[in-house]
Amino acid sequence: MSDALSYLGVPLSRPRVGFFELTSCEGCQLQILNNEATLLDFLNLVTIVNFREGMSERSDDYEIAFVEGSVSREDEIVRLREIREKARVLVALGSCACFGGVNRLKNRFGDLAWVKKEVYGDFAIETRDVQPLEDFVTVDLKIYGCPVKKEEVERIVTNLVVGKAVRLPEYPVCMECKANENICLFELGEPCLGPVTRAGCDAWCTGNRRGCWGCRGPAEVANIKELEKIMTRHGFSREVLIDRLECFGGFASCLDTLTGKKKKAGRNKA
Ligand code: SF4
Ligand code: SF4
Ligand code: SF4
Repeated sequence: MSDALSYLGVPLSRPRVGFFELTSCEGCQLQILNNEATLLDFLNLVTIVNFREGMSERSDDYEIAFVEGSVSREDEIVRLREIREKARVLVALGSCACFGGVNRLKNRFGDLAWVKKEVYGDFAIETRDVQPLEDFVTVDLKIYGCPVKKEEVERIVTNLVVGKAVRLPEYPVCMECKANENICLFELGEPCLGPVTRAGCDAWCTGNRRGCWGCRGPAEVANIKELEKIMTRHGFSREVLIDRLECFGGFASCLDTLTGKKKKAGRNKA
């Protein structure tokens, strides 16, 4: 690593960074490229050596690996373990990587053979139940969201580069929503998972009059039973609540307590 750059006297080491994708829509990687106003500052912080969406060069020599997407094929497990071996720090980028994300919806049917037949008919593809990265490898850091917020990624990368602790909000989206002086959507007849979802998106959806679907997963203390009471009080059924909680995979363990299902065991980590 080079120590040539410094900011306010703090040496910037410009770690070598790779971006990788497993099963995903690549929307989280796109977020990184999206904000031209800060892209050059971001590129000054790191040396990007792998980023299929943004460059054609490739290198296996990197210190930080950002892995987007969930595991939905056997070959992805092998690839993920190879990435883990090469990286000093492995970051799960986005809800697919952290929880399985929207891909995990197919697990809800509990019958993979039936799902394959329904979706692909006679053109069967190789696919398996969806699992998050941490079921297979050690994940050092998670960046939540579907997609991730670019500002949050930049803040986290800056902290990694200058050696500062990375802290994610532990409180729920409601805190940000209220701080932004939004009208609560329950009062307007819309369900919302803001009371139980981890903040950090600056109440992205509720600020645009859309109820939260919980893409960042549960806040540190997520009282699902209390949310169920709020939903009932506003005329929303348990099915509406479960539909939202299942959408991004982050509430899988909370759902188990709500529905009484047992969690499936993951594989051994590399
Ligand atoms: S978390 Fe959302 S935006 Fe990111 S890869 Fe998955 S589906 Fe796409
Ligand atoms: S709209 Fe949602 S996030 Fe905002 S205060 Fe109401 S419940 Fe909380
Ligand atoms: S409001 Fe909810 S669904 Fe929307 S970005 Fe934030 S956490 Fe995700």
